[in-house]
Amino acid sequence: FQAEDGIRDQPRSRGLGDVYKRQLPDNAIEITDLTKIYKNNKEEDLIALNSVNLEIPRGSMFGLLGPNGAGKSTFINILAGLTLKTSGQAIVWGFDLDKNPRSVRASLGVVPQEIYVDPFFSPKETLHQQAGMYGVLPKDRNVDFLLKTLDLEDKSNAYTRTLSGGMKRRLLVAKSMVHRPPILILDEPTAGVDIELRQQLWAYIRKLNEHGTTIILTTHYLEEAEELCDTIAIVNHGEIIRCAPTKEILSDADSKNITLVLSKDYNDKSIIEKIGGVIDKDGNISISYNPKQETSRDILKKAEEAGLKVNDFSVTGASLETVFLSMTSNK
Ligand code: ADP
Repeated sequence: FQAEDGIRDQPRSRGLGDVYKRQLPDNAIEITDLTKIYKNNKEEDLIALNSVNLEIPRGSMFGLLGPNGAGKSTFINILAGLTLKTSGQAIVWGFDLDKNPRSVRASLGVVPQEIYVDPFFSPKETLHQQAGMYGVLPKDRNVDFLLKTLDLEDKSNAYTRTLSGGMKRRLLVAKSMVHRPPILILDEPTAGVDIELRQQLWAYIRKLNEHGTTIILTTHYLEEAEELCDTIAIVNHGEIIRCAPTKEILSDADSKNITLVLSKDYNDKSIIEKIGGVIDKDGNISISYNPKQETSRDILKKAEEAGLKVNDFSVTGASLETVFLSMTSNK
């Protein structure tokens, strides 16, 4: 990255000036009571986001972590202007989504989940076309810089259809950055990307963040959130059930985990949920607990009082996986 190519220097393109002229906001995003209800004709209405409140500080690398169907895409699509919210307020880079949707759009780069790139244009043409759509004047474009940064220089003039999946995804990242948005949103950035490419893509995202871009990503991979994000919001059933620095969420994982082997299968999930447990892959019950507040003995007692017959048990340190599972499955 060179200073003159920096993503944060002043663009002189139409409409985008506003985004940079004003004082830098403390929060890249401020969400108040954001609700989205999908009205389904026949079935019941579906509450995809339930009065969500969230602040995403400028410069952060923020992860929205949650299982499929949690409401992550809905959240992003509202910000991106692809879905209308039902109620609540969204302030992006100091602009109110209701009052100033154009400036909100200019403040955001959004990398969609599906890979779609026009197969007949080269990466270079694709980026110029996108820059044109945002009204970035040819002399102000940073197309070559983006191609270099995302390691697409060799393929600048190739047909896009000849790019590998990883390259296409990088092209999408470049495409979302042509108007130098201060905020970059990635929806499941590494879905379907193999491990090696995933590491590469993470490195690019980190680089953008180091140069001032606020990054928001959604993921259902714990290790992705753990590896990349400084702050994690855990989303489940349209609600934020925990939002804290990654370190703090990880320190939850320092808590202990007890696995109960039962003398028979219990089909009544409510008992298991009542004692804060989840069923693990071996069919045993796994419960994470804070050893400062409870002992394994307390948990065993609770299980027996709830009517479970415990044959055997073992205690281990909990993984983030367990913490996450117990947070999302008890709601
Ligand atoms: P995630 O991105 O976390 O997987 P989504 O935001 O896609 O979650 O979905 C949240 C909930 O809203 C899900 O129950 C999903 O089925 C529902 N949903 C999403 N889009 C629509 C839609 N266009 N119409 C009706 N329901 C939808």
